[in-house]
Amino acid sequence: MLIQDKQIAVVGGGPAGLTLTRLLQLQGANVKVYERDIDKNARVQGAPLDMHEGSGLSALRAAHLLEEFKKHFRPGADRKTIVNARAEVFYSDHETATRADFGNEHFRPEIDRGQLRKIFLESLQPETVIWDSQFVSMQAQNEGWLLHFKNGSSAYADIVIAADGARSKIRSYITDVKPFYTGITMLEGNVQYAEKAVPEICKLLNSGALLAFGKGRNLLMGLKGDGNLTFYASFKTDESWAVTNGLDYADNLEVLGWFRKAYPEWSSIWFKLFENAMTAFIPRPLYCMPPDQSWKAQSNLTMLGDAAHVMPPSAGEGANMAMVDALELSQCLCSAHFLDIQSAIAAYERQMQERAAEAAKISLQNGEWMHSEDALERMVRLLQPS
Ligand SMILES: Cc1cc2nc3c(=O)[nH]c(=O)nc-3n(C[C@H](O)[C@H](O)[C@H](O)COP(=O)(O)OP(=O)(O)OC[C@H]3O[C@@H](n4cnc5c(N)ncnc54)[C@H](O)[C@@H]3O)c2cc1C
Repeated sequence: MLIQDKQIAVVGGGPAGLTLTRLLQLQGANVKVYERDIDKNARVQGAPLDMHEGSGLSALRAAHLLEEFKKHFRPGADRKTIVNARAEVFYSDHETATRADFGNEHFRPEIDRGQLRKIFLESLQPETVIWDSQFVSMQAQNEGWLLHFKNGSSAYADIVIAADGARSKIRSYITDVKPFYTGITMLEGNVQYAEKAVPEICKLLNSGALLAFGKGRNLLMGLKGDGNLTFYASFKTDESWAVTNGLDYADNLEVLGWFRKAYPEWSSIWFKLFENAMTAFIPRPLYCMPPDQSWKAQSNLTMLGDAAHVMPPSAGEGANMAMVDALELSQCLCSAHFLDIQSAIAAYERQMQERAAEAAKISLQNGEWMHSEDALERMVRLLQPS
């Protein structure tokens, strides 16, 4: 195996980095994960992720973790209700959808991000993840890299793999191509004990996802397994909106005031989300890598997941792409087919760039029409059985 006796550093312990590490460890590789979070409980993990056949679920299967996933996914959480700004229901598949199951290409089981992370973390060898290791820079040393972290520590690796997400600090060692702003920003809020705090909205959710469409502006939400609800106000605005709007994101009533002005025709039923938000709001301007990006492969450095190809979440592909990247990269690095590591990385990067470009184009198109004046009608037409 090409990576026999090589020390591999994966930077970032999200879906991309943890999937790759598990797959490489199954092949006997020597891997460490350097993760910025101070420990495994450091952050509230956001909205649930839906996993797709041919990408996320295939990676879980290859990682021998599908049975574990089946114990923890949330049956029914993939059901949808579509409403307008006044919370009138235009579509629901809660009663009508036929029950698909694992192996069916249309089945998209949902799992909480935190639970997915836990499944992977528990599958790794002890001491694999070095927490509180925020990568800041690296320099070439011998045949590999000396990595430096914010806490003052350093580590050597023969091969570095960047899985440090959309704002990757390693990406610039590979290419100058930067992501562009898509014109859409999401404002994320979280409500604890949602059944108690926002019962009317939970009734509409019916344990699934709720998508509300107004005039070019949306509210999207879903429950997590712990009974908390994550919601996103999604709208077109300037790239700098998040830092120039003057809002105190920790003041939920101030943010409610913004919502009432920005979403004027929306029913007061939605105000409860803002009144009951328990943690500070998080603005998320959405970025996308140019779909036609490419670069020259290196012999000891590559990247995957959002670091390689961040895209808007409008097709639910980001984590799925990240996990199938991990599957393809692990297969290339462990294959007997390549003469050297650079050729293995080049083969992985070619197929990753092609696949991610297709997903990015669909995500951009979806993001565009989902913020159009007739988004509600288009969404209902799309979901209605023909
Ligand atoms: C609102 C929203 C909804 C989404 N819904 C879906 C969905 O339903 N389905 C789907 O497939 N995708 C979805 N996505 C996309 C998905 O979240 C991402 O594509 C996915 O998380 C990418 O995984 P990753 O491991 O590449 O990056 P990340 O999940 O961002 O993980 C990166 C990791 O690296 C760590 N890190 C960052 N910087 C450093 C550093 N300097 N040093 C060390 N560690 C570092 C971070 O702490 C983190 O743990 C959604 C995204 C958003 C914003």
